[in-house]
Amino acid sequence: MPDEPIFTGGCLCGAVRFEVTPPTKWCAHCHCSLCRRAHGAAFVTWFGVDRQQFELVSGDDHLSWYRSTPEARRGFCDRCGSTLFFESERWSDETHIALAHMDGPIDLAPKAHVFYDSHVDWAKPGDDLPRLGGATGTNPID
Ligand SMILES: [Zn+2]
Ligand SMILES: [Zn+2]
Repeated sequence: MPDEPIFTGGCLCGAVRFEVTPPTKWCAHCHCSLCRRAHGAAFVTWFGVDRQQFELVSGDDHLSWYRSTPEARRGFCDRCGSTLFFESERWSDETHIALAHMDGPIDLAPKAHVFYDSHVDWAKPGDDLPRLGGATGTNPID
């Protein structure tokens, strides 16, 4: 049986390290206001993976979770502050991982801009990917 490549990643200080077994499910840029504040960035590029394909390798004692809404929580390193993970009842079998924390490329490229009707005016992505939004954050918008 061929070995599948494992994608590895971690926080800024290196305390929290993790592995992802492909295939990943999706990858997208999120423009919602919660991601913006949590990450201190115009938008956040996430990918989703089945929770059983995610494994925390180290840093269990430094990975903290903040409940950002009643149904969702965000995982971060409490030593360096890196904002790493997102889990929600809306996608209860998935862990979402901020792509910027990966050591290298994964098996998917970003496919869309979601929650785009919340985007800021001071950073305009120059790509041709679909801009999605509306009530779900993932409906077509103009
Ligand atoms: Zn850290
Ligand atoms: Zn978001």
